[in-house]
Amino acid sequence: MQQNLLDLDLAGLTAWFAEMGEKPFRAKQVFRWVHKAGEPDFEAMSDLALSLRSKLVERATVASPEVMREELSADGTRKWLLNVGTGNAVETVFIPETDRGTLCVSTQAGCALDCAFCSTGKQGFNRNLSVAEIIGQLWWANREVGKNSEGNWPITNVVMMGMGEPLLNFDNTVTALRMMLDDHAYGLSRRRVTVSTSGIVPAMDRLRDECPVALAVSLHAPNDALRDQLVPINQKYPLRELMAACQRYLEKAPRDFITFEYIMLDGVNDTLKHARELIALTRDTPCKFNLIPFNPFPQAPYQRSPADSVRRFAETLIEAGIVTTTRKVRGDDIAAACGQLAGQVQDKTKRTALRIQEVRG
Ligand code: SF4
Repeated sequence: MQQNLLDLDLAGLTAWFAEMGEKPFRAKQVFRWVHKAGEPDFEAMSDLALSLRSKLVERATVASPEVMREELSADGTRKWLLNVGTGNAVETVFIPETDRGTLCVSTQAGCALDCAFCSTGKQGFNRNLSVAEIIGQLWWANREVGKNSEGNWPITNVVMMGMGEPLLNFDNTVTALRMMLDDHAYGLSRRRVTVSTSGIVPAMDRLRDECPVALAVSLHAPNDALRDQLVPINQKYPLRELMAACQRYLEKAPRDFITFEYIMLDGVNDTLKHARELIALTRDTPCKFNLIPFNPFPQAPYQRSPADSVRRFAETLIEAGIVTTTRKVRGDDIAAACGQLAGQVQDKTKRTALRIQEVRG
């Protein structure tokens, strides 16, 4: 079987090259061709000996997940539905802005955590994505969008906020993160790579020690009673433990604050009483809040908070000295906004698969 080079970080590629009797500097050359230059064709790697190129053609491949469907929003947001085999699909979203390009990456097919407001959770868990399937999203999206006029790749920021809980696919997520940060690959700043977690406390400590990047925590409720319902993993890692883990994370984090994500659900978690509880909860934790208007999906038991409620909620936090932003709803015409990433994926997958079969006859 051919080795997919997207599965190997530089250390792994060097070890694989050693098994073939090839020197470490050759591994570095190939790593740079694949990730820095975005080149999948070994024959085009012009500074490699012909004998090495032939060996690679025979034994290796560079394969990111197959794109089943692409959607382009009027605001420039692009969403790709990726086939990760056995009827599973995940989504990757590229969000262009004037000063940066952000890629939202998935780490699992489905998710086991079943947050009450999340369409992914309704699908259940299918499997962890491999390193190649995670880094392949960045590799492929860079090539697809293309370099800008200065010759730079378009993606400057990565957020692991797509389908799945990254810290429950810890090893593959961290290997992919290291590749994102590696100067011989994408060279992204730790401050511009964000892992979003629902609060897997022991894994937050491991991430801090093994590969600290910016951290976002899906908070969504100011007290255990409500968070137990909205984010059921809270029953295992309640708020007291979660806030302590956030403070430990900050000891080594590349940013001096945690971002708390807070989805605004009409009449559920969006009152001024909730805002005041949040202020008390986060008193000892340097943080920013990102308020996210809920994107209803079919059978969703919640409604989006009215704009006035969101504004008053934000003002209350800001008056207490907490930097608070409200996420712009982007790409909602293609269901690419947060919480919709996996919306109807399985249906779409089946429909797309059917169409592919029809096309192939
Ligand atoms: S919000 Fe995140 S952690 Fe919760 S079910 Fe959805 S994908 Fe999983």
